[in-house]
Amino acid sequence: MLCRIGEVEVWRILEMNGPFREAEALFPNAGPDVVRIMNEMVPGQVDAAGRLVLPVQGFLLKTGSHVVLVDACVGNDKTNRFSDWHMRDSGRFMAALAASGTAPEEVDYVMCTHLHTDHVGWNTRLVDGRWVPTFPKARYLMPAADLPFMEEIGPDQYRESLLPVIEAGQAEEVGSDFTIGDAISLIPTPGHTPGHVSVRIRSGGAEAVITGDAIHCTPQCAYPEWQFVYDADKEAAVRARRFLLETVSESGARVLGTHFQLPSTGRVRADGDAFRWEAD
Ligand SMILES: [Zn+2]
Repeated sequence: MLCRIGEVEVWRILEMNGPFREAEALFPNAGPDVVRIMNEMVPGQVDAAGRLVLPVQGFLLKTGSHVVLVDACVGNDKTNRFSDWHMRDSGRFMAALAASGTAPEEVDYVMCTHLHTDHVGWNTRLVDGRWVPTFPKARYLMPAADLPFMEEIGPDQYRESLLPVIEAGQAEEVGSDFTIGDAISLIPTPGHTPGHVSVRIRSGGAEAVITGDAIHCTPQCAYPEWQFVYDADKEAAVRARRFLLETVSESGARVLGTHFQLPSTGRVRADGDAFRWEAD
C-alpha cells in the first residue's frame, strides 16, 4: 500500500517509469535553463539526454464502500503513432493491480481525470481482436467536456479506449460536482484538457489530492507559469495549476502527483508568489 488517508487505502498502480521527451520541448516557455533548474530542484528529473523522467501510473482507492481506479495509463496494443507507447505489451500494470489484492471485476469505478492516451489505456484490452472493457463491472467516469475533445484530437484513443466502454453501457459523463460516497470528490482543473479534474480524498480528518495532469512535475510548484506543451488551453492550465496549488497549500492536503518523480507524494507550501514542494 502506498498510504492510507483516513479509512481509504491508496495503492500505486505503476505502469512505467522512465524518460519521456526533451524537457526544453515539453516546457517551451520555461527558458534555456530549464534542465539545470529542474535537476537542482529534483536530482534525476531530467536524464543525460535532456529528457524529462516521469512515471505513468494510476492510483487505486479502497474506501471500504468502493474500489476506485483513478487513471488507467497507456495500456497494451494501443495505437500511439510516433510514440514509444505504440503497441505496448507489458504485464506491469495488471501485476500492480493484482498486488493490491484487486481483481478487475472488483473495480467499481474507473475515474478518468481526463481522456488523454496515458490515462485511459487500460480502460479496454484487446480480446480476440475486439476491444472490451478491462473492468467488466465498473462505471467509467469521464469528464463530459473531454469526450467531444478527444473524439476530435485523438480518434485512435477514442476508438480503442473510449467508444468500446460507451458501447458497453459502462461510461458515465460527469461534471466536477460528481462524488463517490463520502470520501471522493473532484476539483475542476480545466486547461490541460477542457474537462480535466483532480481528485480529492477526504476521510477521518485526513485529506489527499491526486493531481492528474493539472501539474506534471514538482518544479512547476515553484514555476506554475511554465506551460506544458500538451496543455490544450495554456493560460487556463496556468490558472488551474495555481488554483490547485493554492488549494492544497491552504488545506495541507497530501499531494499524489500522477507524473511526479517517484514516490510522487508530498505537500505543497506557499512560498512568496509561488509554492514549494516538500517530498514525503
Ligand atoms: Zn494529459
